[in-house]
Amino acid sequence: MKRIVFKVGSSVLTDTDGIAKERMLNLVYLISEVKKEYDVILVTSGAVAAGYTAVKLDRNTATSKRVLASVGQPILMHAYKHKFNICDVHISQILLTEEDFDSRVHTKIFQDTIDETLKNDILPIVNENDISSTVEQLFGDNDQLSAHITHYTDADLLIILSDIDGYYDSNPSENPNAKLRKIVSKIEKKELEQSHTPNSQFATGGIVTKLKAAEYIMSKNKEMFLCNGYDLTAAKEFLLENVHNKGTLFSKKRQEEK
Ligand code: ADP
Repeated sequence: MKRIVFKVGSSVLTDTDGIAKERMLNLVYLISEVKKEYDVILVTSGAVAAGYTAVKLDRNTATSKRVLASVGQPILMHAYKHKFNICDVHISQILLTEEDFDSRVHTKIFQDTIDETLKNDILPIVNENDISSTVEQLFGDNDQLSAHITHYTDADLLIILSDIDGYYDSNPSENPNAKLRKIVSKIEKKELEQSHTPNSQFATGGIVTKLKAAEYIMSKNKEMFLCNGYDLTAAKEFLLENVHNKGTLFSKKRQEEK
């Protein structure tokens, strides 16, 4: 069965009042559908933002941020559990650090765990273990984590659900004439060196970390699809109807449209 990794960002999952319930529910419905045809792994952000809705600690201090993540992780998983129950989907929680990817022993442990989880028709929900990671070990953003998960679990495709329709030829919040790029098969060095542009206070990445993830994915001969996580139409069409309207596909296997 083809394997797909979904990555969903904080901006999609949370709003000022906490978990963005309707958006999460829409995501849960989509994943439950996709799961009928593919093996699915979900990489989720949102723990720090969810924690902040419960206790207002300083998000910029390392230890307080860890506390926020540890408060928010169960809030996030509780919300997922509740919603996946509606669809009769069993879920599991897998917390990883960068170290899990560079030691043969640890990598094999999580690979076997994810394989076995999928074999038992359970949806693995992965997040970075913010609490036990040192600053140097942290991926820092789930774009990189999800790209690594895609490679190490031998998935074929990474879907990044963001607050934007895809990758534009310039920053759309600065340039109203920016055009969406439908297929990207090569990323230039200067695109990877842009300054970071996260769009919300909890987002850590911005477009550059997504481009880095795409670069990594393409170097492993896999594909990445960046699309809107607020409105899941593009993801739905792409995955379930084989139609590519909106969204950017990063792929070496396809020709770029000029
Ligand atoms: P998420 O929380 O989903 O990870 P981010 O806010 O980190 O999302 O990153 C997406 C943001 O990157 C967009 O909302 C947009 O403001 C910004 N951005 C900058 N340049 C571009 C570009 N060329 N194409 C698309 N988005 C861009």
